Amino acid sequence: PSLEYELARRQSRRDADELWRFVRGELTAWRKDDSSKAPPVARRLEKLQDSVRQYHAVIRGDLANLTVADGWETWRRREADQLADLMRRRIDFLQNPPDCATAKKLVCNLNKVCGFGCQLHHVAYCLTVAYGTGRTLVLNSRNWRYNRAGWEQVFQPLSGTCQDAGGRSKAAWPGTADTQVLTLPIIDVVSPRPPYLPLAVPADLADRLARLHGDPSVWFTAQFVRYLMRPQQHLQNDLDAFVKRVQLRNPCVGIHVRRTDKVGTEAAFHPIEEYMQHVHEFYERRQMEAGGGDGSRRCVYLASDDPSVFQDAVNKFPDYTFLGDPSVSKTAAVSSRYTDASLRGVITDIHALSLTDHLVCTFSSQVCRVAYELMQTMHVDAADWFTSLDDIYYYGGQSPHEQTARFAHQPADGSEIALSPGDTVGIAGNHWNGYSKGENRRLKKVGLYPAYKTRDKLRVVEFPRYPEVPL
Ligand code: GDP
Repeated sequence: PSLEYELARRQSRRDADELWRFVRGELTAWRKDDSSKAPPVARRLEKLQDSVRQYHAVIRGDLANLTVADGWETWRRREADQLADLMRRRIDFLQNPPDCATAKKLVCNLNKVCGFGCQLHHVAYCLTVAYGTGRTLVLNSRNWRYNRAGWEQVFQPLSGTCQDAGGRSKAAWPGTADTQVLTLPIIDVVSPRPPYLPLAVPADLADRLARLHGDPSVWFTAQFVRYLMRPQQHLQNDLDAFVKRVQLRNPCVGIHVRRTDKVGTEAAFHPIEEYMQHVHEFYERRQMEAGGGDGSRRCVYLASDDPSVFQDAVNKFPDYTFLGDPSVSKTAAVSSRYTDASLRGVITDIHALSLTDHLVCTFSSQVCRVAYELMQTMHVDAADWFTSLDDIYYYGGQSPHEQTARFAHQPADGSEIALSPGDTVGIAGNHWNGYSKGENRRLKKVGLYPAYKTRDKLRVVEFPRYPEVPL
């Protein structure tokens, strides 16, 4: 190991120890301090919280230094490129059969009644099942609610050789292995459920992905999303021009504020201050990692379906530079949402968000989840480049998200559940206060448990191994 690596390793241990000594010292002093001259509790707590936040930023900085100094960055980059390239070639192979007349096909309709992120995830689910069943995906997108002329108006066609859904035998899912053309319904009602649904990862890549990436199932989904979102040239030109016009640069934090029809139905209202608190923390960590600020103004890319958010943010946070375009936001109005302008608007915002260094958003919105997925295709491992104000990452209609207990846990009260090492927990959500909620499958009990006491369990599923495509 290099000198830098060894120094960083010891530094991180020292910083973790110092954090504990500091917290222990403060709390012990408080317990003993009953004099009336002691400062008010609220002020003391604020100071404590401030200090602990800085300790955390320092330890994150140590870990970043370790990653840089361990000497494996070149390997990680190459491995990430090779895996992404392998998936791209496999999907190309699947989607371009030499003879469309005899190819096995899976047909999906783009008419799911929902927004763009939801529809894109619908098609990504179809492509994942196509990949799992070795069938070419044919997308029927005529009369698409966003653009009557269809998907190919904005994105490249899913196939260069096979866009015809015809065939000698047709059936609805699941059909039989012999059925040439299968139609697949939306994920919400598919029956029987294919084993390939997210968050599954393919057995033949599982070990490499687990080694490389913080969330292999997101990485896998991201490869399909990237393939689907390959833009037509005119869209690519527009996206490039937009990024140039708003002067998007790095580092920048992407904020997505989902309001209008979502608030009060599927998600809660979150004020801009809540998002900005996390932006502040991001830049504080960044400063510790870099060993001091670079003096430039802090950049935030702001996307929302509520145009009033922009002025609100600029008024309240004059020290930040807010990029983004309120007129793009205006195209998201519910009354005129399903138009070509609105489609271009949301694609533009998703693209810009995906180019940032950290996302602060509500993962209850598919807009932010798509941006997060795309982000994974541009970096070795951007699994933790997000702060969600509500849900953990999920894929609508996914198979249960499970975790494995690392440590035992004794419930402190009736709201918590017990854990034994090795227990399987079905996680429902993270409350972002140190606790997650889920079901201990062994005890069949639902409740809270410290999030650090579990780790994600990969759902490894046998997919076709595509021997025709060289590794
Ligand atoms: P979800 O409802 O937030 O899960 O995401 P969907 O994509 O399924 O539907 C929301 C729709 O609202 C999007 O497709 C857009 O048309 C619009 N929208 C939501 N947020 C934004 C945003 O930040 N920018 C733009 N341009 N449109 C948005």
